[in-house]
Amino acid sequence: MDYDLAIIGSGPGGYVAAIRAAQLGFKTALIEKYATLGGTCLNVGCIPSKALLDSSEHYSQAQHEFKQHGIEVGELRLNFAQMLKRKQNVVDTTCKGVEFLMKKNKIDVFQGCASLVDAHTIAIQGDAPRQISTKNMILATGSKPSSLPGIQIDKQRIISSTEALNLSEVPKRLLVIGGGIIGLELGSVYARLGAEVTVFEYLDRLIPGMDQDLGKEIQKVLKKHLKIQFKMQHQVTAVENLGGSVKLTAKNKQGETEHWEGDYCLMAVGRKAFTEGLNLSAIDLETDKQGRIPVNADLQTKHAHIYAIGDLIAGPMLAHKAEEDGIYAVEHLAGQQPHLDYRLVPSVLYTWPEAAGVGDTEQALKEQGRAYKSGQFPFRALGRARASGDLDGFVKVLADADSDEILGVHILGARAADLIGEAVVAMEYRASAEDIARISHAHPTFSEAMREACLAATDNRALHV
Ligand code: FAD
Repeated sequence: MDYDLAIIGSGPGGYVAAIRAAQLGFKTALIEKYATLGGTCLNVGCIPSKALLDSSEHYSQAQHEFKQHGIEVGELRLNFAQMLKRKQNVVDTTCKGVEFLMKKNKIDVFQGCASLVDAHTIAIQGDAPRQISTKNMILATGSKPSSLPGIQIDKQRIISSTEALNLSEVPKRLLVIGGGIIGLELGSVYARLGAEVTVFEYLDRLIPGMDQDLGKEIQKVLKKHLKIQFKMQHQVTAVENLGGSVKLTAKNKQGETEHWEGDYCLMAVGRKAFTEGLNLSAIDLETDKQGRIPVNADLQTKHAHIYAIGDLIAGPMLAHKAEEDGIYAVEHLAGQQPHLDYRLVPSVLYTWPEAAGVGDTEQALKEQGRAYKSGQFPFRALGRARASGDLDGFVKVLADADSDEILGVHILGARAADLIGEAVVAMEYRASAEDIARISHAHPTFSEAMREACLAATDNRALHV
């Protein structure tokens, strides 16, 4: 065999698995069909979206916040082309970083589309077509944007997140289908840059996978600060490209048909696993109804030496989940006993303020019939939040009614994405709310809200409300 392990797909699942495999002494190959490494996350996902979120937040702050801080700037002008250029530089540098890591770890990288020949052979189509043989494999081909039945993403006016990260202009009116993470993040980018943004959501709440209090609060905040309009319980039935604009048709909750016009329509209704070109039938592998590859608890497909990870399998479609999967698969292959708990994979929404959650939502605890208690603390009661002017949001801690073990933490507020880390550590070590309440938290920091919410959950002992 040419390799101990061949990994197909260089997203955060695949490239992290490759590094771990090299660390464990496996002779490793990584195959990627695109010219750059890093997959969706680095090229058209996490990294470019966060670059634009940061740039647009600076612009919005300069417009609306600086004055209050005593900073007066002259006429503010948006240079969108420069913003996109900077975003691309961030992406390029990050992708090159992965390339460097592959070299450093002596991983053989092949550029070309991989398709399975048999359970130990992969054909690589590309500039230099070839076949490699391998003892083991990891399938990490990720996901692609999905659409609604009958609506085609034409990439011109009806766009997915990939095109939204690279528009040639700031739309005057942007219609966003889907009030999930990607829709709200990219909707925020363009609303901050001056677009009139309307979000159409089929359900009666935003960010449906997260605690409902976060969804309600973020809706209020985005409406207030960015003037984003929300059309809840609207079922979009058609979108038409009219040349210079788009026409969207939706049914509202009364069943009436509504028409909306915009410059662009962003389809942000989720992503689906991607297996095209892999030739799964060569190894008799089938996908489930959502196109994902079924795996056992150790991430093995029905062939024990072939693992599947990341967006390609069930579980949260997140970069850090894909990384965890990759490390798990490789360590399992090496005969170790790794650990994986999807319940403790945090979810983050990078709007401003941010939203983040880990563990059970309050709705899930109710459904389970579990006895729980809840402690909540508003950021506006913190000195740090007043100093920076980031007053929106709260930390909510859910703990077991008897044992006080923390079951879920849900945060809406400045730096929630970083604050959630403390909750993840606490829950991995099965801390009680009182454990966290008794730990010193630096003052003045946003993290004090976590301690206060834990105090609130422990016999209502919050200090600053
Ligand atoms: P991918 O990153 O999709 O990588 C799969 C790779 O496999 C691709 O490079 C693809 O070209 C390659 N491939 C496919 N088929 C073949 C083949 N036959 N041969 C060779 N190569 C092949 N997640 C977060 O955690 N945080 C965020 O902030 C975040 N923001 C996001 C923003 C946007 C706009 C989007 C779209 C996604 C975001 N995500 C975020 C989700 C995250 O990008 C994915 O969960 C993550 O990239 C999945 O990693 P993966 O390794 O499973 O697959």
